[in-house]
Amino acid sequence: MGRAYRSHQGAERAWPRASSTGLRLALRTAAGVYSLTMSESSSNFIHDIIEADFAAGRRRLVTRFPPEPNGYLHIGHAKSICLNFGLAEKYGGQCNLRFDDTNPCTEEEEYVTAIQRDVRWLGFDWQDRLCFASDYFERLYEWAEQLIRAGKAYVCDLSPDEMADYRGNYYRKGRPSPFRDRSVEENLDLFRRMRAGEFPDGSKTLRAKIDMSSQNMNLRDPPMYRIRHVPHHRTGHAWCIYPTYDWAHGQCDAIEGVTHSICTLEFENHRPLYDWFLRELGIADPPRQIEFARLNLSYTVLSKRKLIQLVQQGHVNGWDDPRMPTLAGLRRRGYTPESIRAFCERIGVSRADSLVDVGLLENAVRDDLNRRAPRVMGVLHPLRVVLTNFPPGQTIELEAPLHPEDPSFGTRTLRLSRELYIERDDFRENPPNKWFRLAPGREVRLRYACLITCQEVVRDPHTGEIVELRCTWDPASRGGQAPDGRRVQGTSHWVSAEDSVPAEVRLYDRLFTCEDPGAQEDFLAYLNPASLTVLSGCRVEPMLAQASPGASFQFERLGYFCVDPDTRPGHLVFNRTVTLKDSWAKIEKKEQASRLASAGGPGTPRG
Ligand code: ATP
Ligand code: MG
Repeated sequence: MGRAYRSHQGAERAWPRASSTGLRLALRTAAGVYSLTMSESSSNFIHDIIEADFAAGRRRLVTRFPPEPNGYLHIGHAKSICLNFGLAEKYGGQCNLRFDDTNPCTEEEEYVTAIQRDVRWLGFDWQDRLCFASDYFERLYEWAEQLIRAGKAYVCDLSPDEMADYRGNYYRKGRPSPFRDRSVEENLDLFRRMRAGEFPDGSKTLRAKIDMSSQNMNLRDPPMYRIRHVPHHRTGHAWCIYPTYDWAHGQCDAIEGVTHSICTLEFENHRPLYDWFLRELGIADPPRQIEFARLNLSYTVLSKRKLIQLVQQGHVNGWDDPRMPTLAGLRRRGYTPESIRAFCERIGVSRADSLVDVGLLENAVRDDLNRRAPRVMGVLHPLRVVLTNFPPGQTIELEAPLHPEDPSFGTRTLRLSRELYIERDDFRENPPNKWFRLAPGREVRLRYACLITCQEVVRDPHTGEIVELRCTWDPASRGGQAPDGRRVQGTSHWVSAEDSVPAEVRLYDRLFTCEDPGAQEDFLAYLNPASLTVLSGCRVEPMLAQASPGASFQFERLGYFCVDPDTRPGHLVFNRTVTLKDSWAKIEKKEQASRLASAGGPGTPRG
């Protein structure tokens, strides 16, 4: 089933006011796919609405984030959380966390707990305003009786299939139910007996009496209550009739004094129904509903139904699998709450349905980890290097900064010894043109350590595989500077063979191979079989043995990695959060410039 993209209406709101930072956003509308550049200061049309409301005399702002506890929160929910809590922060109002727990068949306590943990982790606080729709079941019931007494609701005996048929569709008008004209007394009696448990599931509903010929299907006498002899995770066996989402939602907002009820675009044509309920109940100062476009992310599915399928069918390892777009998955992958909030700020809020480039999310975490992650070295595919002229048994201690741009991170000690590991990819026996790394007879710099030259390649006599490089080091190049100013372009990361520690490293790729898996007939057909690569036998600096789960590091040249909770004493596990892109090239350039500067190179002022 293809995704129904909305019209271009309101798309101009998605365009940034200025484009200075060059963040890319693919915007998809009915009219096609656009790529646009986002400014750091994102746009949010809801600010304008709220400011107009304040200018017109409104005194306070109350919003809510209303998850249904039937799955884990995902990055799309983060957009809604940041929006609702963000508005409360910006305008000195409050935001409630309200569970829309009206459907006991799909809801679980596990989800209630996980959702609270994830909202808190994102950095938001509902204080004492943890609410549940189920807390209002009695009030909703009283209101339903009020509508019955006003002749605005009736008990209907049509089966679900019959009701669907009577309601018609977009092309076919609805027909009134044969039970539509029951008397108030009969309706009240039946509704009370529904509550008392006298009737089986599906045998009766309470329906609003609105307009069977309305163009808006939602107004064709929508159900308000269904019979479900199912216990509820909070109310237990107290109820066997449960309110529909449509009946509960607006009234829950009204009970909580919500002033701005913000929801995604698919509820736009439910708004007349919500307004009808609030009006018929005589609720003063009703909430104002504002719709915005939900987040769609490329190479990602964000429908809870699909995410549940991925978990239940074992395509991923649970809700917090680092490939999942859930907040639990992103956290385990190494995403910081700050990076997710920055992402939500950058994409802005509009009424134009768009497909946001997942690269934008990756950039947000890169930006954040660039600031906060210490730099260390790890070798993913180790190749042994023996420094033949290095005295056996000796080590040289070298101080290396933990962050090249932020001295407050301090330094750590690296130990250079006769045997070390470099990345297998950093050596080529037959190097191509412009190869600056190691090759027979070539010299490279070991980061923060020294210059080495490859003298000999040792192979496994059976397999022919290269198992060792025999190199010489230049003892005068300690720290990595050539003593005579000779130019050594390539720099490789390394670890000492003696004191490095083994680690398992999990590399992730996109979970799906097509840009918009949610729009495909069978999204599972587009699962990427190579979305997870587990590397065992990696080697990392010894200081990492002490790192606790969740800690993030930049492995120089390789990306940002965080310690996975599967880590046990003696068994370190890392997840790669995201690759680095071009930052290594930048560092090398910078260092070359500063080496030139300290050597009194051309045009550099002396101090
Ligand atoms: P699904 O349609 O996948 O079942 P949902 O919208 O029903 O998800 P809820 O638990 O009802 O999930 O969502 C809670 C809030 O989060 C709602 O206000 C909803 O509008 C918002 N939300 C859900 N998905 C997104 C998204 N992709 N982008 C922005 N907001 C979202
Ligand atoms: Mg929903």
